This record gives sequence, structure tokens and C-alpha cells, in this order.
Amino acid sequence: KGKHVLLFFGGKSTEHLVSCRSALFIARTLSKMPLKLSLVGITVNGDFLPYPFDGEHLDSENWVKEAEEYGKSRNVPSAPISSPAAFLSSLTKDGSKPDILFPVLHGINCEDGAIQGLFKMADIPFVGSGILASACGMDKIAAKTILQHYKIPVVPWFRLSRRVWQMNNEDACIDILEKLPFPLFVKPANGGSSVGAGKANNLSSLNQAIAAAAELDSEILIERQLRVRELECGVLGNFPNYLASPVGEIIVKKPNSFYDYQTKYFSEQATETCIPATITTLMTRQIHELALEVCNILQISGLARVDFFFDRDARKIYFNEINTMPGFTEISLYPQVFAAGGFDATELCGRLLYLALAEHEERS
Ligand code: ADP
Ligand code: MG
Ligand code: MG
Repeated sequence: KGKHVLLFFGGKSTEHLVSCRSALFIARTLSKMPLKLSLVGITVNGDFLPYPFDGEHLDSENWVKEAEEYGKSRNVPSAPISSPAAFLSSLTKDGSKPDILFPVLHGINCEDGAIQGLFKMADIPFVGSGILASACGMDKIAAKTILQHYKIPVVPWFRLSRRVWQMNNEDACIDILEKLPFPLFVKPANGGSSVGAGKANNLSSLNQAIAAAAELDSEILIERQLRVRELECGVLGNFPNYLASPVGEIIVKKPNSFYDYQTKYFSEQATETCIPATITTLMTRQIHELALEVCNILQISGLARVDFFFDRDARKIYFNEINTMPGFTEISLYPQVFAAGGFDATELCGRLLYLALAEHEERS
């Protein structure tokens, strides 16, 4: 009760805009709760700008302009910024130290342990996973390597380093095709919102897809392209006490398409979300067990969305990826599956704040 929450949005990441939308939803929820709320936006250049308004007014188009104007008029006691905690405190409305940090941020620098490192050094409780779990969740190659070690089923994959491909893309493609047959699916190891992800059905589209992924990351993940049903499970809790949400299914209606960036955020007509997914009880149980196992292995804190593929041909479930700060917009799956599980946005955010305090207590 009465805690001071500092919410972060934006970020130096390909998912900047998605984060603004997630933050709008969460800030709106938090501003109705009995707590003090400060907002800070991170620009696409990585600058931290205190933002004057609360949830209702977060304007993802104009926030930088609003924050800059606010910066000029802002009157916060200026103590010397000599520590990470002092820096974070300087960002709040009144310059006081926040009790809980809430990074509503997606992608590189945001969801990969980078900002979590700053939070850890400041020794302030924060919502979500710590450095290692965040980094493993962000890096699909790291996640698959670890989870495979624990016998979690993953789609057959190949790791390609950009440097190796740039040295000789013909040889690199031969190596890939020795391991995996067409059709293939290519994505950056550290990506999100499907940015830089694409299909490859022949050599020229393979090189094209690798080039696109290589723009975003130095490590590239190549997988067998499957005909999939996309089943996603929300998780809430701290190690080892996790709660799994009902399973949701994302149905992409465009034929021969996949759940790409455009589809995820800008064409509501193109997908359907089915909660709970129409799958057998056995399959639901299997997904719940796998989701919890994944969180236990990676020692997730607070929240995660664990995404699975059901291979329509082999009729098999695979872990696809984990998102340690899942999309949290009005139309995102994470808040929806928990709403279906009986937790509205207020309940969900309240629990996340509580889990942040509990995790900090546990670690110190
Ligand atoms: P992101 O973190 O960007 O969401 P994903 O691994 O979830 O990365 O890939 C984005 C989307 O691409 C998935 O939701 C799915 O529609 C499609 N996709 C990813 N991997 C495969 C694959 N191996 N076969 C078929 N489609 C895939
Ligand atoms: Mg992702
Ligand atoms: Mg995904």
C-alpha cells in the first residue's frame, strides 16, 4: 500500500512502440491503484526522460515532445548523481527513491538483462526476471541450448554466426542444408515481435532471410519450418511457485502467412485469439507442465509467457520461445489469458508488484 512505483516504457529496441502500448495499459491500471506512480520513457536513442503524466495520458506518438517540455520546467531537488540508486531516484516525479521498478519494456537492452543489471546495482526491487533469466529468455539460441539439455522438446535448429555467413554464404548454406531440409524458418537469436523473422523455401530466399536477420543480430537461428498451431501459456510467480494461466491459441487467418509484426500489432482482423484453446485436456496438461518446467529451469521471476508450437504433421508439441516481459497491450494475450483465469488487470499488476518485493527480499 502506498508504494512508489517507477514505470519504464519505450526503450532502445525494435519493440519501442509495442512497449509504449503495453505501458499505456499497465500505467492505466496502476494509476487506479492506491500507490504513487512515476513514469520514465526511454527514447530510441537510449535517453531516459521523466514523463509527466499518468496512465490515462500516455501518448505513444508524442511522448518525447511532452517529456522534453516537462524536463525544462521540472523542479526536482538535484542531489549529485553518484550511484545507480541516485540516478533512478532522479527520474521520479519528486526525486524520491522508488520502492518498485516496473520495466514495461521489450527487446534488446530492455528484456535481456541489460536494464535489470542497472536495477540490481541500485538494489531496488523490480518486476520481472533477473539478469540471467532475462538474457536466456531473450536469446533464443541460449534458451534452446539450456532447455534441450533438460529434455524439453524444441524444433530442430541450427546456429549460424553472421561472420561465418559473411565470410562465405555458399558454404554456410551447405552446412545448414546438411542438417536441416527446406522449408526453413530464419530469425535473429535476440529478437521479438517477429521483427527480422521470415520463411525460406529455397536457396535465394534463405540468403535473403539470413540477410534480414543479420541486420538485427550477430547470431541467427535457423529452424525447420513447421505447419503449426501456436499455443501460448501465461505464467505468474517466483521460483519455484508458479501459476499457469489457461492456454491461449493465436490463429493467423491469412493463408500461408505467419504471426508477423504487422499481424501482431497493426491488423486486428488478421488474427483470432482463442482462450482457452480448443485442445484436449491431455494437451493442456502437457503444455502446463512444460511451461512450469521451463520457468523452473530458467528461474523466471514474476511473469513470463511461454510459447509452444503444435506441429500439425508430426502431431507433437514443441517449446518455441519464452518472453520474460510479454506484450501487455489491451489486445495482448498475456493479460487476456489471466483475465480468463480470474485475474483482472488490477489483480495481475498487484501480484506483479508483490512478487517483485518478495523476490528482492529472497535475494538479499
Ligand atoms: P518472436 O520472439 O519474434 O515472436 P518467434 O520465434 O515466436 O519469435 O517467431 C515469430 C513467429 O514466426 C511465430 O509466432 C510463428 O508464427 C513464426 N515461426 C517461428 N518459428 C517458426 C517455425 N519454426 N516454423 C513455422 N513458423 C515459425
Ligand atoms: Mg518473442
Ligand atoms: Mg513469438
